[in-house]
Amino acid sequence: MIMGLTGGIASGKSTVSALFARKGAALVDADIIAREVMLPGHPVLAAAVQAFGDGILHSDGSLDRARLGEIVFRDPEALQTLNQLTHPAIRREIKEQMYVLEQENPQRLVIVDIPLLYESELDHLFEQIIVVYVPRRVQLARLMARNGLKLDQAEERLKSQMDIELKRRKADYVIDNSGDPGATEQQVASLWDKLGLI
Ligand code: ADP
Repeated sequence: MIMGLTGGIASGKSTVSALFARKGAALVDADIIAREVMLPGHPVLAAAVQAFGDGILHSDGSLDRARLGEIVFRDPEALQTLNQLTHPAIRREIKEQMYVLEQENPQRLVIVDIPLLYESELDHLFEQIIVVYVPRRVQLARLMARNGLKLDQAEERLKSQMDIELKRRKADYVIDNSGDPGATEQQVASLWDKLGLI
């Protein structure tokens, strides 16, 4: 069984994915895949260099994320170009990994963690989606603490994301991660049982 997992930035997607993995689920992590397509030697990185010049590379050939970030932050067209280069490859790799894992063991739960699942309109890939929810104020507090940000910087990061309340309403299952870690673990365990997993 394959399930999509999403939420907002710092709502606890990694934390909840790890809890599912501990119960025996297999994980596909879109963030890791997104980094892999920008590693030296990958055709997507080569295409990005074609588009933006080799100023986006460090001298060792690896991606200078800060430099690329500066370019696309100021220029919506450049951001669109970058997304057109990266998104199809990321999508392809997500699908490949999740179907391979499902075929390897159809009984096993495969959790596919995609931070921008709804924003990227990838919800059609999944019959069932879990949203890891915390209210916006908790989300902001955890984001500030984790990334050492001030309130206005944290709010800026949330701007480009769909409202977490809307994600909660779209979800098939909600894990409320606003309590202590034990409360979250209990919800994961009860969803695990409800899905008939062993
Ligand atoms: P995401 O993967 O959605 O960005 P994380 O799993 O990294 O979110 O969690 C965001 C931050 O909040 C991390 O610093 C994490 O340790 C912390 N955190 C996650 N769940 C809880 C919780 N139930 N109580 C307190 N802190 C939490």
